[in-house]
Amino acid sequence: MRTRWGSDPFARGAFSFLPIGATTTDRLALAASIDRSIFFAGEATSTTHSGTVRGAVESGRRAVSEMLAAGAIASSRIVIIGAGAAGLAAAAELRSAGLASVVFEARDRIGGRVHTDRSLGAPVDLGASLVYDPTSGNPLVTLARQAGVTLDDVDDSIVVRDQRSHRRYDAAEIDTRLTAALERVGAGSRADAELAGALRTEAAASGLRDPELTYAVASRIDGIAGAAATEWAWRGYDEALRSHGGGVGAMTTQALPRGGFGALLAPLADGIDIRLGQVVSRLEWSRARPRVVTTSGEAPFDMVLVTLPVGVLQADSVVFDPPLPASTSAAIRRLGMGLVDHLALRFPRPFWDSSPTWLGFIGTTPGEWTTWRNLGPSTQQPIIVGRNAALVARAFDARSDAQVVASAMSALRLLRR
Ligand SMILES: Cc1cc2nc3c(=O)[nH]c(=O)nc-3n(C[C@H](O)[C@H](O)[C@H](O)COP(=O)(O)OP(=O)(O)OC[C@H]3O[C@@H](n4cnc5c(N)ncnc54)[C@H](O)[C@@H]3O)c2cc1C
Repeated sequence: MRTRWGSDPFARGAFSFLPIGATTTDRLALAASIDRSIFFAGEATSTTHSGTVRGAVESGRRAVSEMLAAGAIASSRIVIIGAGAAGLAAAAELRSAGLASVVFEARDRIGGRVHTDRSLGAPVDLGASLVYDPTSGNPLVTLARQAGVTLDDVDDSIVVRDQRSHRRYDAAEIDTRLTAALERVGAGSRADAELAGALRTEAAASGLRDPELTYAVASRIDGIAGAAATEWAWRGYDEALRSHGGGVGAMTTQALPRGGFGALLAPLADGIDIRLGQVVSRLEWSRARPRVVTTSGEAPFDMVLVTLPVGVLQADSVVFDPPLPASTSAAIRRLGMGLVDHLALRFPRPFWDSSPTWLGFIGTTPGEWTTWRNLGPSTQQPIIVGRNAALVARAFDARSDAQVVASAMSALRLLRR
């Protein structure tokens, strides 16, 4: 089972991030409502938990409070574009306030970037899988309770091996050195400069050299928001870590919804009018005849909530007529959309070290397949999920399934016990 979030027309990437030059002001500009009739939500609009399901849920609720303040009442015609976490949370919040809405969703399923697949005989999350920072008033914990889903602690044990030397590395030591280097970049004058360059000098001073450095960058930096160390600065990276409830020197706590992440969103969708398979192509918001145009027709609205991912907004696949204000479109251009992709493989029996949850891999091609997640401990099934991020994931997106599987298999051969 392979994901290609980058070429998915309804995602165009995995998570938003702040590239060099962008700031959280761009997130606020994207979140700003227009003319008391167009509202925006989605993880990219969150200034506290961007790139996460929590950020998406909270953004949907924030948008509804803005709608209510702008005068939404029971007779208002409210349209929501997108049945991901943000759109569903907004629809549920409106429902609680006694207001109905219609949700148009392009896919034939709800959840968006939350998608639990069961074709390998066990739940495999192809998008979000972890609840970050479950102890800090996280609304996903409440949703898990409502859905009857147990949140399991995640064992973060990891074994890192080098394909060439067959050597095992000390993952904790790599982490400590990377953290020391990152702390120096953050404390110095290069917090807004390209992270790769700023890190290179500090990494050497911290005793972190190739191949550990390449591994550390691919697993700890590229993998966080799917952005390469050449695309963002320390400040953007720090924002992403904080969004996950951690920081450069602070590990994020994580929990795993037993049975898959998808079930957490189910309580939000209960009783909502969701129209699946409806691709929105136009949003006309002139005062005379505001309407949303979809694959099979059109819907007039008084208020519309747009939860499209930044990548979709950047691709201009939905036409806004008249065009969005300059502040909104500038924010869309400035924000970045990172990429992380997964390949889930099932074997007759596990041939990899079956006890750790994570397997780190230092291969002959820098940055490829650096992180594997062993689903054995959580599903009791011989399933392993490889991850590629940032530039590597973009290069893989263009390859055929056979090429990607062949590449993964050559990496996996090393992970034999
Ligand atoms: C590989 C991967 C791993 C991740 N891991 C985690 C994790 O472990 N923990 C975590 O918290 N977060 C994780 N995330 C991020 C998380 O999934 C997202 O932040 C969150 O799901 C975004 O929700 P959203 O509602 O903002 O956007 P989306 O879920 O993308 O919802 C937008 C919806 O709009 C729909 N849409 C798009 N275009 C149209 C159109 N033209 N017409 C109608 N509908 C349209 C889409 O189909 C989608 O359903 C991960 C994401 C990915 C891709």
